[in-house]
Amino acid sequence: MFEQYQRIKQEHADAILMFRMGDFYEMFFDDALKASPLLEIALTARGRGTGNEAPMCGVPHHAVDSYIARLIASGLKVAVCDQVEESGQARGLVRREVVRVVSPGTVTDPGALDARENLYIGCILPSEEAAGAAFVDLSTGELRVAEPAGRGHELALLMAAFRPREILVPEGTDPEPLLDGAGDPAPAAGTLPSWSFGRDAAWRAVLEQMGTITLEGFGCQEMDLGVRAAGALLHHLRATQRSALAHIRRIVPHRTADHMVLDAPTLRSLEVVRSLADGGRAGSLLSVLDRTLTSMGARLLQRWLVSPPRDEHVVRARHEAVGELLGDERARETLRGLLKPVRDVERLLGRATLGTANARDLVALRDSLAPLPAVRDLAARLGAPLLTGRPGPLASADTAAPPGSLDAMEDLHAALAGALEDEPPAGLKDGGIIRAGHDAALDDLRTIARDAASHIAAIETRERQRSGINSLKVRYNRVFGYSIEVSRANLALVPPDYERRQTLVNAERFVTRELKEMEEKILTARERSTEIEHGIFCRLRDAVAAHGSRLKASAQRIAELDVLASLAEVAAARGYVRPEITSRPRTRIVAGRHPIVEAVRSQERFVPNDTTLGGDGARILIVTGPNMGGKSTYLRQVALISLMAQAGSFVPAEAAEIGLADRIFSRIGSSDNLAGGQSTFMVEMQETANILHNATPLSLVLLDEVGRGTSTFDGLSLAWAIVESLRASCGTGGRVLFATHYHELTDLSATLADVRNLTVAVEESGHDVVFLRRIVEGSADRSYGLHVARLAGLPPGVIERAREVLANLETNELGGDGLPKLARHRPAGGREAAGAGQMPLFGAPEDPAASEVAEAIRRMDPDALTPLEALTALHRLRRRLRGDPE
Ligand code: ADP
Ligand code: MG
Repeated sequence: MFEQYQRIKQEHADAILMFRMGDFYEMFFDDALKASPLLEIALTARGRGTGNEAPMCGVPHHAVDSYIARLIASGLKVAVCDQVEESGQARGLVRREVVRVVSPGTVTDPGALDARENLYIGCILPSEEAAGAAFVDLSTGELRVAEPAGRGHELALLMAAFRPREILVPEGTDPEPLLDGAGDPAPAAGTLPSWSFGRDAAWRAVLEQMGTITLEGFGCQEMDLGVRAAGALLHHLRATQRSALAHIRRIVPHRTADHMVLDAPTLRSLEVVRSLADGGRAGSLLSVLDRTLTSMGARLLQRWLVSPPRDEHVVRARHEAVGELLGDERARETLRGLLKPVRDVERLLGRATLGTANARDLVALRDSLAPLPAVRDLAARLGAPLLTGRPGPLASADTAAPPGSLDAMEDLHAALAGALEDEPPAGLKDGGIIRAGHDAALDDLRTIARDAASHIAAIETRERQRSGINSLKVRYNRVFGYSIEVSRANLALVPPDYERRQTLVNAERFVTRELKEMEEKILTARERSTEIEHGIFCRLRDAVAAHGSRLKASAQRIAELDVLASLAEVAAARGYVRPEITSRPRTRIVAGRHPIVEAVRSQERFVPNDTTLGGDGARILIVTGPNMGGKSTYLRQVALISLMAQAGSFVPAEAAEIGLADRIFSRIGSSDNLAGGQSTFMVEMQETANILHNATPLSLVLLDEVGRGTSTFDGLSLAWAIVESLRASCGTGGRVLFATHYHELTDLSATLADVRNLTVAVEESGHDVVFLRRIVEGSADRSYGLHVARLAGLPPGVIERAREVLANLETNELGGDGLPKLARHRPAGGREAAGAGQMPLFGAPEDPAASEVAEAIRRMDPDALTPLEALTALHRLRRRLRGDPE
C-alpha cells in the first residue's frame, strides 16, 4: 500500500495527498505533519512499533469537502485520491487514482465558494512588449483572454479587475512581479510546463475545447499570446479536474480599450466592492447597489462595476432598460418575483459538467428553469432591447447575453421534472431520486420490492397464528436482514422449521425459508432499482451538460435582467435619476450625493452639492477647507456618480450629465491611507507617477491630500508641480479634483485659467465653527484644525499655545530664509495679529516691487500678446524689480 502511496505522491509532490482508505481520507508523512494542526485533527502513526512508523492523520470521507476548503484557505493545494474499484472486486490491492486536484483557483465546492463572487484562476505568458493572460472561473465555465501591453502596468489593471486567487506562469518565470494589483491576499502562484504554452499545443487545446477550427467567431483570432495562455490553462484544468470541461465553450476577449479602467488603488479608495474600514462587502458601493436576487446577478453586477463599458451605446442601453423597469413598477415586481426562486444555474451547470452534481442540484436546476417561460413572456412585452433581447447595436462581449429572446429551456425542464422526485435525498446510493411512472422497469422492480414487503408483513400475522406466540415480530436489521423475533419466555413454542440466526439478551431471532426468499427478492429488486435510478440520473446529468451552451446563455440573460431590475429597484428606493451620457469630457451634476455615505450614515442628513467640471468650465478643481469639512466625500461623490453612470446605473442627484471616462484615478494621500498598512510616502508617489504617465484627456483624476506624506515644503511644491503636469498631459480635456490643505495651491487659479477653487462653507461664531457641508466657490483661509482639536478634547493650554504658534506662522513663516520660526514666542506687547496671510508666490513679502510685479504678471494675458509686446513687458518688469528707472 505504501508503495502505491509513494508512487502517487511523487506525481503530486506540491499538493497534500488525501488518500482514500475505507471511510477515511488519510494523509501521511509531511502532509500529515502539515495538515493536522491546520485541520485541528489528531496526529497518529501507522505501523507503530515496526520501526517504520509513518505519521498519519485522517478525515471522514463524508466531510472531506470542508477539510479541503480549510487547507485551500491556508494556501495549500490538495490532491484527492480515491479507490477506483470496489474493494470486493479487487484482487489484492485496490486500485487508487487521483480524481481531482483542488487549488485556491479551482475550488468548486459550493460550501467553500462565495456565491456572489466569481473565483478566477489566471495564467500569464509574459513576453517582450506584451503578455498573454487568460482567466477561468471553473465553477461557471467563464473564460476570458487578454493581451495587456507594456511591462506590468496593464497587467496590474487586469489583476485588479479579476482578482484571481491563483496565477500560473511558464516554468522558469518568476511570478512575483506579475502579481501587482491582484489585491490582498496575494494569489497563490504556480508554474506550468513551457511546452503547454507552445503555439501548436496551446492553440490545439483551445480549438479543441471550443470545438471550432478558428477563433474568428470569438474575436480572438489575433490574440496569439492570450490564446496560448488560455491553451496552457485549459490543458492544466482538464488534467487536474479529470474532466472535459464541457461547460467552457466560449472564449471572450477582454480588451482594456472597451472598458473604463479602474486600477487597484482606485477600486480601494472608492470602496467599489470592499470597504476601506474592514475590507468587507458592507459599506461598499456594491453593497448599496446590490439588490440582485440571484448569485449570477450579483456576480454580473460586480463585473459591471469594476469594468464599466466605454461604448456609449452600451451604457445608454442599460439606462434605457433600468428606466423602463423603474417606471413600470408592476413589471419590475413581477420580474423580481419570478427571479426569486432561480438558483445559481451557472454553477449548477458547472457541477453537472464536472460530474459532481447530485440529485438536489438537478432539482435546484429544475426549479430554476420553471419560472423562465413566464420571464420570457414578460420580457417580450417590454420595450428596451436589453430586456426583450431584440438584437440591437450591442455586440459588446461584456453585455453578458447573446442577442435573442430568452431560451426558457422548456424541454430540459420537462425532462428534469418528469424524471426527478420532488425532494430527493442528496446521496445517490439509496435511491428515491426518480419519480414513479418515469421508467417501467424501475416501477416493476419497486412493485416487486413493495409486494415482497407486504408479503413479509403478512408472514408476521400468519406465523403468530401458526405458533401461538402473540408477541412474535418480524424485524429488519441492516446486518442480519429480516428475522422473526421471539422472546425468551416463548422459545418453547418455536416451530421446528425455524432456523436460529441471532441471540439477544431477552430474545432469539429466527428465519424461515419463505422469509429468506422474500428478503432475497426485496434486496435484489432494491439493488437493481438503485442501479437503474443511478443510470437514469447520470444520463439526466449528462443531458444537462449537453445543453450547456443554451443553459449558459439563459443564465446570462437572467443575470442581466436581475442586475437591471436591481438597479431599477435601488433607483426607486433612493431617488436616483437617469444620467445623460456624453462622449465629451465634461461632468455636470446638480445636487449630487455620495451614494454610500447617504445610505450608510443616515443619522446626519446628507447635504447635496453641485459639480461642474470640464467642457467650457474649469477642468481642475482645487478643494480646500477645514478638516472633517467634507472634501474627501465630495471628491469621491463625483467619481462614484461617474462610475455608476457609466456602469449602467442611475445616480444620486437631481440631474447629471456625465462624459464617459476612459479611466478614473483616485489616490489618497498616505496619511489617510492607513487601512492598507502601507502608509509610506513612496507608495503615494509611485501611485501619482502612475497617474501622470497614464492620464489622458478622457480621464477623471482625484487627488486627495496627495503630497501630505512629506514635509510641508516638499508636499506643497510637489502638489503644485503635479497639477501643472496633469493639466499639460490631459491636453484639452481632463477632469481633475484635488483636495488639499495647502491653501497656497489656490494661487494656481491666478495663473491657470482652467483651475477653479472650491471650499467647504463654514459658519463661525466666536471660536465655534459649524461645518455646513456645502461646497462653494472660493478658498478656505483657515484650516480650523484647532477647532477640531478642541472638539477632540485637547487640553485648553495646548490649544492656546497652538493658537500663538499659528499666529507666528501666519505672519511671515514660509518665505524669507524658508524656515518656519515655530519656536518663537509672542514678543511682550507684540502687535502681531493672526492675519490670514498666505505664502507669497514671488519674492519675499517685504519686497513691494516683487508683489507689484507678481500682480502685473497675474493680470497679463499671454495669449493676447505679440512676441514683441511680451519682450517689452519682460524688460519693463525686470526694470521694476531692479529698481532701474523707467
Ligand atoms: P475632509 O476630507 O474634509 O476631512 P470628509 O469628507 O472626510 O472631510 O468628511 C467628514 C465627515 O463629514 C464624514 O463623516 C462625512 O460622512 C461627513 N460629510 C461629508 N460631506 C457630507 C455631506 N455633504 N452631507 C453630510 N455629511 C457629510
Ligand atoms: Mg479628507
